[in-house]
Amino acid sequence: MNLNRISTEEKMYLKEVFNLDSWLLELADLVEQDTCAVLKSINNTARHNQLKVLQAFREAGVTEYHLKETNGYGYGDLGRDTLDTIYSRVFGGEDALVRAQIVSGTHALALALFGNLRAGEELISATGTPYDTLNEIIGHNNQDNSGSLSDIGVGFTEIPLTNSNLPDLDKLQKTVNTKTRMVYIQRSSGYSWRSSLSIDEIAEIVKVVKSKNPDAICLVDNCYGEFANKKEPGEVGADLIAGSLIKNPGGGLAPTGGYLVGKTEFVRGAARRLTAPGIEGSVGSSLGTNRWFYQGLFMAPHIVGEALKGAVFAARLFERLGYQVMPGYNAPRGDIIQAIRFGSPEPLISFCQSIQHCSPVDAMAKPVPGELPGYDHEVIMAAGGFVQGATLELSADAPMRDPYIAYFQGGLSADHTWIAALCAAQSLYQGGFIPNGTCVPAR
Ligand SMILES: *Cc1c(COP(=O)(O)O)cnc(C)c1O
Repeated sequence: MNLNRISTEEKMYLKEVFNLDSWLLELADLVEQDTCAVLKSINNTARHNQLKVLQAFREAGVTEYHLKETNGYGYGDLGRDTLDTIYSRVFGGEDALVRAQIVSGTHALALALFGNLRAGEELISATGTPYDTLNEIIGHNNQDNSGSLSDIGVGFTEIPLTNSNLPDLDKLQKTVNTKTRMVYIQRSSGYSWRSSLSIDEIAEIVKVVKSKNPDAICLVDNCYGEFANKKEPGEVGADLIAGSLIKNPGGGLAPTGGYLVGKTEFVRGAARRLTAPGIEGSVGSSLGTNRWFYQGLFMAPHIVGEALKGAVFAARLFERLGYQVMPGYNAPRGDIIQAIRFGSPEPLISFCQSIQHCSPVDAMAKPVPGELPGYDHEVIMAAGGFVQGATLELSADAPMRDPYIAYFQGGLSADHTWIAALCAAQSLYQGGFIPNGTCVPAR
């Protein structure tokens, strides 16, 4: 196979400018060899999804007009409405709501939940503890639950993952009943040490839920999962999916926004909550976001491929250095997150600081752990991107809790991730943190 070996000239540059040792560059070559076949299969998925997105654009008849700016109420905003059509095709739903007014992934999920759940109904999480920011939305473990689902009388049951960190289908089967209105399924690992769900696993969960209650809404938290596989959850029976445009589907270009795709009834429920009953999704101008949203979606399959390639490189590099990683470099991936377990705070902080140091924006900043709205623990975040908090751009973040795991994701270019991962390894080595002495020279 055609290996991307580092040339002598490039090695000189990497040594001089980035202060990388020779042993590390040799290791990078080995990692490149190890991961060759995996990278090929990522290219294959990216191409499949690129064709799918292209076809959705063509079918929708996108013209220059759709990309123009609108203002005011946004009545008849054709760009906005056509983008909804394209999203529903690509993600396998009847309808969609893609809006700059959805401020984040958490907001999109909150719209899905509050827009479709009523007092006395029950929500079940099929994938263990939901993503951190959903805690306050659900409100069951909090003292002050004002405005939460618990506050309006929605019940909540969490089905813990099995000992091998898989969804517990038996328990799910026993728990879903006629009162169950919605089942939350988190595709990505989020801030937890488990693999992401495969599309087949999502299909399996949906099947179990529907066998007990065909009317229960299967909601998939699709954050970080878009375009990681050839199918999306909407294509295997999920009723509603939600995500953020400053993650995968924004392709690194969307400046803000969130989306929902699913059955018309449930997307409307969310739209009523975003705006108001009666105006739903037909009001709300797209301002100047249309072109970014269209172009971002068009770029997304390729950029997600870049992010996946970077993650695979980092997985194998840090594994060879002796760290535990999740997923392994050649394991199936349903999201773009690469978790690396550091075991103590110092190497975790060193890692995040290196990633920041290798960013195109704010490279001189030094991230430190701090509080963040919606999160229970202090969090350290490295992000030097073009859009604030956009984690399809290369970023690393970690809640400061044992066993000190960095969640490393994004990278608009796999080459950027490559250099950042190597710089992080170099700093860890200099700090004396590398666990696997056998692959590095004696210190
Ligand atoms: C990022 C994320 C969210 C929340 O999205 P924000 O845009 O950060 O609010 C929810 N669930 C998962 C799995 C995520 O990765």
